[in-house]
Amino acid sequence: VALRMDDTLRRAVLLYPDVESIVEGDRRWTYRQFQQEVHQLARAMKRMGVVKGDRVAVLSPNTAAMLQLFYACFQLGAVVVPLNTRLLPHDYLYIIEHAEAKLFFADDELIPLVEPILSSLTTVSRFVAIPVRGTSGKRADWDSYPELLGEESTEPCVDEVEETDLATILYTSGTTGKPKGVMHSHRTLFFNMQNTMFHTRASDSDVLLHTLPMFHVNGWGTPFSYTAVGAKHVMLRKIDPPLIHSLIKREGVTVACMAPTVLNMLINEPRFHEDKTTGPMRVVIAGSAPPTAFVRTVEQQLGWEFLQVYGMTECAPLITVSPIKHHLANESEETRFRLKAKAGVPMLNVEVRVVDDEDKDVPCDGRSIGEVIARGNMVMEGYWKQPEATAAAIVNGWYRTGDMATIDAEGYIDIVDRKKDIIISGGENISSIEVEGILYEHPAVLEAAVVSVPHEKWGEVPHAVIVLRPGMEADEVELDRFCRERMAAFKCPKGFSFAPELPKTASGKIRKVELRQPFWQEKD
Ligand code: ATP
Ligand code: MG
Repeated sequence: VALRMDDTLRRAVLLYPDVESIVEGDRRWTYRQFQQEVHQLARAMKRMGVVKGDRVAVLSPNTAAMLQLFYACFQLGAVVVPLNTRLLPHDYLYIIEHAEAKLFFADDELIPLVEPILSSLTTVSRFVAIPVRGTSGKRADWDSYPELLGEESTEPCVDEVEETDLATILYTSGTTGKPKGVMHSHRTLFFNMQNTMFHTRASDSDVLLHTLPMFHVNGWGTPFSYTAVGAKHVMLRKIDPPLIHSLIKREGVTVACMAPTVLNMLINEPRFHEDKTTGPMRVVIAGSAPPTAFVRTVEQQLGWEFLQVYGMTECAPLITVSPIKHHLANESEETRFRLKAKAGVPMLNVEVRVVDDEDKDVPCDGRSIGEVIARGNMVMEGYWKQPEATAAAIVNGWYRTGDMATIDAEGYIDIVDRKKDIIISGGENISSIEVEGILYEHPAVLEAAVVSVPHEKWGEVPHAVIVLRPGMEADEVELDRFCRERMAAFKCPKGFSFAPELPKTASGKIRKVELRQPFWQEKD
């Protein structure tokens, strides 16, 4: 039997036909109703000429329609290409042309983002507008999503698909350069979907709040895992802390994946402190090397278990997971937070190694640094139309992550830095993540990014860019003193600058390339 991503929905319909599946604003779908619309959409897409292997681009916030589009593509063997909602027109042109998309679906509210480039698209034959609730969504040159569905029957529409057929091309965050089109098949996604289900303990009593964008790989595994188990999905168009608070309460949310920046917003939202009865919320899943102080703040102030996961678009995405609370029941709170601040241990049937330049495993001493490499069924099929980049990324079946880490005797992997971000100062490796972790302990620091800047004597030295908490103060002298008391002198930032905010990718990652640039340009 071929592993198929759309089977997650078919199974849910068999087991939970009348269970509520999706909540979006004041609209609700049962699993059966949701599946019926997916069949209608698949039929409409077929009528528009979509066949197996065709790419279908979508630009949308987290909505029921977007999830329906994913499933309709899976059913037909079409390849869904979700687009980041925070790009510039020329980025959209690049990606849609690069993917050679045949159809283009866009949420009505986001159409202005692509308007300037629509006439330059050479491969798209039909445009479909998904109206926002309460609007007609009618536009010249665009088909209307509800009208297309309305013309079709709800009879099943499922074509033959092999598990090695492509299901998606996901473009990477572009943290280190131009986004690359990562190809995933039904097989690689299915593997990650099952692992996400298992390691986040998904069940039919769960209610998942979609706080991570589904266009990004971070937001990918969970929608399908939580569909497969018949959980309820609560859609969210925009990050809005008061709304998140009320949705958690109203819908009885139990689980959410959140970028640390979003968690920070919730920590700063008074409602989460005034009314702590966010009831059944059992766990928040997050990545991005959070410092121990951050894990502590989340667990103590929001009262939710923090589950760290580590992964990347190329691995569909997850490869490691931090230990869960009751495994750590006998540990002190501080030990628990410290362990949860690590990327954790490999997921089921995923092999992870930390290797040196000669591909030898580094000692499991929690100190020696090497590159993380991973092998398993979740590794991508390759980069779309980039065979050379693919060959450089997957060597002998092992995906080279470009992330540097240590591994300890218990097998815990701790991400130290990206290969490109590590600061090499006078021959010593300095982890920007470690220095940021100390800065986050300072009460006035809301966000900190440490980057390498050129230095005559040491080659490179760390420099910190700081965002202060609203209404709080700390100057260079104070932060320097704070660092010196807590870490070796060579690791302390040699300069500080202050900014109202940090440049970020759409998934909320700090774009260090951008922060580093001015320092290196001045030198040239
Ligand atoms: P690009 O590949 O285009 O430069 P990107 O690597 O940021 O962008 P993603 O696939 O979105 O694109 O991100 C994966 C990367 O995010 C990982 O390689 C790693 O550097 C970082 N990351 C993810 N989870 C964690 C985590 N738990 N701890 C530390 N770093 C993490
Ligand atoms: Mg990457």
